[in-house]
Amino acid sequence: MNLKVEHLRIAFRFARGKDAKTSVPVRDVSFEIPENSRVAIVGESGCGKSLSALAIGGLVDRAEISGVISRGDMRIAYIFQNPMQSLNPTIRCGAQIAEGTNWSKHEEKEKTAHLLEAVGLDISAAKKYPCELSGGQQQRVMIAMALAQEPDLLIADEPTTALDVTTQKEVLELIARLADERKTSILFITHNLGLVAQYSDFVYVMYAGEVVESGKVVDVLSHPRHPYTKGLLAAVPSLDAPKDAPLVGIKGVVPQPSAWPKGCAFHPRCPYARDYCSSDSFTVCPEIAEDKNHPTEEKS
Ligand code: SF4
Repeated sequence: MNLKVEHLRIAFRFARGKDAKTSVPVRDVSFEIPENSRVAIVGESGCGKSLSALAIGGLVDRAEISGVISRGDMRIAYIFQNPMQSLNPTIRCGAQIAEGTNWSKHEEKEKTAHLLEAVGLDISAAKKYPCELSGGQQQRVMIAMALAQEPDLLIADEPTTALDVTTQKEVLELIARLADERKTSILFITHNLGLVAQYSDFVYVMYAGEVVESGKVVDVLSHPRHPYTKGLLAAVPSLDAPKDAPLVGIKGVVPQPSAWPKGCAFHPRCPYARDYCSSDSFTVCPEIAEDKNHPTEEKS
């Protein structure tokens, strides 16, 4: 079952009358998640990644949403980034895993035990409250909750941000393995290009509420074309770099969605910017238009 998002736009309106303001954190996002695939959306915080992912599941309130989300009767489950904030602290983990399912009492015990085992936890975790578990164990409970919905698509939104580095690897490998076993597609939402390289087949790079580049991971990472993708890649620390080499970053910060810059929204931060990029006639990033050797398809 495929999921297809076409020209998604999400706007929020604040205040009324002469003080009215509109913020458009997602301006034009299109992507596709084929059956049984691993796709990543990558970009800095504030680029609209999580909001786009929430819109897929119909979880965005009080917004003006346009575009087309074709998901048929696809079941979607989420794994959020901070399990302590996502789990209910007053309900035992077992009951939270069963929430939203139509399991009978008998099934609940058996299926919860099976899921806890699948995510590497002891059955005793079912009787515990989230605060009695470590961060990594809580995230495993979140994964079990997501799998209990028997999803066709698992959306993992920065699933390891709140965890230490060794637990991050364990949790990511667990998500990937369980999704593979169940033939579930995964959409990773992340700012971590290392994660994209290891766990995804296809990547969409988002900046300022738009997809600026997309393609097979191997192509985009080996031959990035959009200056934002190049900046993200250059910012990944390398083990081969000299010890005293300075960390490279992208200058400036992501602008506010109520005030995206005119033309290419990346132009105030882009080392390749030219007058055309901030002009009314801007349509396509010249860095992409002038690069004829890449096998992927992008828009700027
Ligand atoms: S359009 Fe211009 S400013 Fe924007 S990314 Fe391309 S070169 Fe840089």
